[in-house]
Amino acid sequence: MEGFIPSLRARLSPSSKVLQDNTTSEFKSSLARWSDIDVRVPYAIVQAASEQDIVATVQGAVKAGIPFVPASGGHSPWSTIGQEGIVIDLSRYKGVSLHPETNEATVKGGTLMKEVEVALHPHERFAAVGNGNTVGVIPYYLGGGISIYTPLIGFGSDNLIAAKLVNAKGELVHVSETENPELLWALRGAGQFFGLVTEITIKTYPYSLLGNKGGQRICGTYVFLPHQIDQVCAAVETVIQNDRYASAGHFMVMQAPPELKQQVLFVAPQVFCSSEEAAKIFQPLVDVGTLQQAIVPSTFEKHSDQLDWVCAKGDFKRFTQNGLPDWNRENIKKLAQLHAELVENCPDAARSGYNIEWHSPRKPQGGPETAFGHGSVDYWLNVLSWYTDAKNHGYVDAMNKKAQGATRAGTDEADFVSYTNTSRDDPLGYRYKGTERIAKLRELKAKHDPTGVFTKQLL
Ligand SMILES: Cc1cc2nc3c(=O)[nH]c(=O)nc-3n(C[C@H](O)[C@H](O)[C@H](O)COP(=O)(O)OP(=O)(O)OC[C@H]3O[C@@H](n4cnc5c(N)ncnc54)[C@H](O)[C@@H]3O)c2cc1C
Repeated sequence: MEGFIPSLRARLSPSSKVLQDNTTSEFKSSLARWSDIDVRVPYAIVQAASEQDIVATVQGAVKAGIPFVPASGGHSPWSTIGQEGIVIDLSRYKGVSLHPETNEATVKGGTLMKEVEVALHPHERFAAVGNGNTVGVIPYYLGGGISIYTPLIGFGSDNLIAAKLVNAKGELVHVSETENPELLWALRGAGQFFGLVTEITIKTYPYSLLGNKGGQRICGTYVFLPHQIDQVCAAVETVIQNDRYASAGHFMVMQAPPELKQQVLFVAPQVFCSSEEAAKIFQPLVDVGTLQQAIVPSTFEKHSDQLDWVCAKGDFKRFTQNGLPDWNRENIKKLAQLHAELVENCPDAARSGYNIEWHSPRKPQGGPETAFGHGSVDYWLNVLSWYTDAKNHGYVDAMNKKAQGATRAGTDEADFVSYTNTSRDDPLGYRYKGTERIAKLRELKAKHDPTGVFTKQLL
């Protein structure tokens, strides 16, 4: 390792940086992550400033047998490594360009969600995005990409058209329908296991698809008390079942900020139509009787601003998503009991929340066949755990498992779905569906990354 860093420095462009002194604010700031769970301190952090820098770093590391992990937004638990390796921090290599002839966008390196939204907004176009301004765009697309726009345009992986990646030999490879198409299939859902992706090209869509003149997404916020859960679930069901407009949204069990003393049910539905039409569709929620209510139109560049508090770095946090076969009211009601139990026994975890995300109607049929393969999943359990005391790791994790178990009650294990972007420990059969898909992924991994440079997953 000692000889590797000086020789790498000599090959990198002047705008790049190699950070080795872990006491400096620059090093600490690069290391800071969404969650402090299992954060490790690497031997060095390479902040590559160009594609050539990335290629040189991967090539050098592969040749020297030095393990590395890429890091974009730092929202996963996996972009961290100990003294045996290096982090390739992509935050100095970013950019979004919209191609006017095709309306496809190319997104580079460590570009974050908010940055892609801000770049597309002046063109009045949107794309599949996740709920978090500082989530990395490329990992999100590579791992599936669950989006509140999925009912209109499918998942992120359906919208991935082309990519460039540095493979396990350190070669820069072009991937598209015509160049290495088998890798395009794999990148659409399992991409983090096949290379370091330097850029992706994605589909974008006109604001007019959002169903109103202003090109806004119309989002409601409704707050209820726990004893109203039956009526609230019934009202959410009417929004989901409305057959006029596509909808998506969140039904959350959480503690009301800022005191975090009172459990509330927070419903944030959105429909793709005008605010007047939305008000009619959301009326059943109003009829239940709310503590607070609002309809908040927002444009694409402000898509996740209201969630900036969830993106704060530090503390112990975990975010997992599990696909569910349907909206099962009885199972969902158990989440409120479990959340109350969690907060009562562990007040330190009061910022945690259990949340059902729905997409209705189903995404448009006819998208590409992808490694992701969860195109038919319309309901997701999102578990956010958030606490500060390390002694609570075991208890909070056990409660997360209970929440997952409660929403899976009545589902055959063969149909369990764990989201590829938030789980690497659950059985492969939960993350990728079908023996053929798994066999194909294993075969491609054995061919393109037989020694596990980009994780041992699928080997
Ligand atoms: C608050 C929050 C909100 C979220 N909301 C959503 C959501 O709405 N929808 C959704 O689908 N997901 C969501 N996620 C999950 C998120 O999409 C994944 O965790 C995603 O992988 C995070 O990307 P990142 O760049 O921020 O993380 P990182 O930790 O930087 O990267 C994630 C993984 O990808 C690898 N990686 C990083 N860059 C590259 C690259 N260029 N090429 C190859 N591999 C790379 C890393 O080594 C790591 O293994 C959310 C997560 C959080 C914490």
